[in-house]
Amino acid sequence: MSKVIDCVAIGEEMMKEIIQETEALKAKGITPGIATLLVGDDFGSKMYRGQVEKFCEEAGFNYINENPAADVGEEEVIKIVEKLNNDPTVSGILPLRPFPEQISDSAVINSIDVKKDIDCFHPFNMGKLALGEVTFPPATPAACIEILERYAREEGIDPKDFFEGAEIVVVGHSNIVGKPAAYLSINRNATVTVSHVFTSIKGNLAKHTIGADILIVAAGKADLIGPDLVKEGAVVIDVGINRVKVLDEKGEPVLNEKGKPKTKTVGDVSFDAVKDKTKAITPVPGGVGSVTNRMLMKNALKACKMNHGLL
Ligand code: NAD
Repeated sequence: MSKVIDCVAIGEEMMKEIIQETEALKAKGITPGIATLLVGDDFGSKMYRGQVEKFCEEAGFNYINENPAADVGEEEVIKIVEKLNNDPTVSGILPLRPFPEQISDSAVINSIDVKKDIDCFHPFNMGKLALGEVTFPPATPAACIEILERYAREEGIDPKDFFEGAEIVVVGHSNIVGKPAAYLSINRNATVTVSHVFTSIKGNLAKHTIGADILIVAAGKADLIGPDLVKEGAVVIDVGINRVKVLDEKGEPVLNEKGKPKTKTVGDVSFDAVKDKTKAITPVPGGVGSVTNRMLMKNALKACKMNHGLL
């Protein structure tokens, strides 16, 4: 029997833990805080920013929204980061990308204080991740690990045993999801394979994914993973978020009241076709994304404690 992992419930449970910790810090006169840095008005980044603000409010964090115009110069953006680095009310800084083309990602990221780099973008923190000396586990892959650890505990398995020697296949090798998911898994002594678009181009994706005890998929391609690519009894974590057209039985787009095609959010895994083959699977929507922001807040709490000499 396949279990659909209730990531929304995990996110809510984590939020309770975060609120408790925040209250304990506030009792000491310390308030954690997050600053987001959005340059311009990219739609996806604006949505994400709004979520971070909402969660900060809910947890009782300070929140700062830095939002210079899209035509701002790089020097100006770096000055904003330096101001946030020196602001004691800011525990963590979250740059929201993509930046406009006149601004170099690495110039901005390299200017963030490594002790406030709560999504592990800075090369120093990525290096520590690779060495297994993680300060801030990057939010999205850390959410995958958190979900797997909580799932293991629910099944009565020690998370350490769950990971050790497990065949984990990661689909996707981006710097923000795929690669750090692989490092976090290696750090737990799993046997890790990283596959990506060139694995698919060579026709080798199924060869790898079919051997996975745990399959972590972060490609951004709807229906990339069908049942033929999944081992019977695998645990599948679907990170992908894709907007696709809703189709009727004939495969024609269903139109909304304005005559435009209706759309819906799906992951990278063909959920209905794959579900029964798996031991457990995360849905989309209501999956990894429900935990990602909370991981970011946990990192901000850690940064806050570190910056106040409590860790
Ligand atoms: P990205 O575009 O930077 O990287 C995509 C990766 O997928 C690349 O490594 C690429 O090689 C691989 N890939 C692309 N096509 C492939 C194919 N046909 N076969 C195998 N591999 C393929 O994307 P990203 O930032 O890593 O995000 C990946 C997905 O995860 C996106 O859908 C994104 O929206 C989603 N995401 C979700 C969350 C969350 O919290 N749920 C957070 C971040 C990203």
